[in-house]
Amino acid sequence: MRKTMVAGNWKMNKNLQEGVALAQELTSALKGTTPRCEVVIGTPFIHLATVAQVIKDSPIRLSAENCSDKVSGAYTGEVSAEMVKSTGAEYCILGHSERRAYYHEDNELLKEKVLRALENGLKVIFCIGEVKEEREAGKQNEVVKSQLEGSLFNLSDEQFANITLAYEPVWAIGTGLTATPEQAQEMHAYIRSLLASKYGEQRANDTTILYGGSCNAKNAAELFANPDVDGGLIGGASLKAPDFLTIINAR
Ligand code: PEP
Repeated sequence: MRKTMVAGNWKMNKNLQEGVALAQELTSALKGTTPRCEVVIGTPFIHLATVAQVIKDSPIRLSAENCSDKVSGAYTGEVSAEMVKSTGAEYCILGHSERRAYYHEDNELLKEKVLRALENGLKVIFCIGEVKEEREAGKQNEVVKSQLEGSLFNLSDEQFANITLAYEPVWAIGTGLTATPEQAQEMHAYIRSLLASKYGEQRANDTTILYGGSCNAKNAAELFANPDVDGGLIGGASLKAPDFLTIINAR
């Protein structure tokens, strides 16, 4: 049985004190419980080490939202995968559409970032998805296939076991527009078929594929009810503990 997951992506929200308060609220709610899915929170770099201490006796796992493609050295302002790992984080979100759009991260750069994360023992939540114009032109499958091929299909099966995918149609992120459960299921099944062609049925069946894009406390259960939707990557709704907890319970 593959792992199910609900992961939060705080993006560039909450100062350190606010982030700690949110992590404390989630920890108090989940301590001593066994959620049906893995629970991950993705926080800005500066929160990682402190939040790692807050959540250490809870079932919550920690993720960064990015890491450098470089190993170390004279790259002012960058944060390496080794640094992320040293905070206690287990995961790194890579390939988010905001990084692709605003920071021009392409498949080739992301391929390097994925390698740095894996080399340092981080698991990767890798985001893929089409923009509105691509969906309208019926090109969503093509786009997602080239993102997978361009950044991940160089990995060995052993390396790929550390990848969680997040299908995030860009037109649904932060817009209030959600993919219908049918659209999500159709794409997730397509992604799984690509994994089967590349890595075989076993790896395809074992890979966790999350949906992301305006997933919230109201629509999560309907999205998660689909056989190939293994959970969610949650932006806005992960910033309020009650909403995030409702989504966790919907999985
Ligand atoms: C995201 O940032 O990955 C995301 C899905 O955002 P939102 O839930 O706010 O659409």
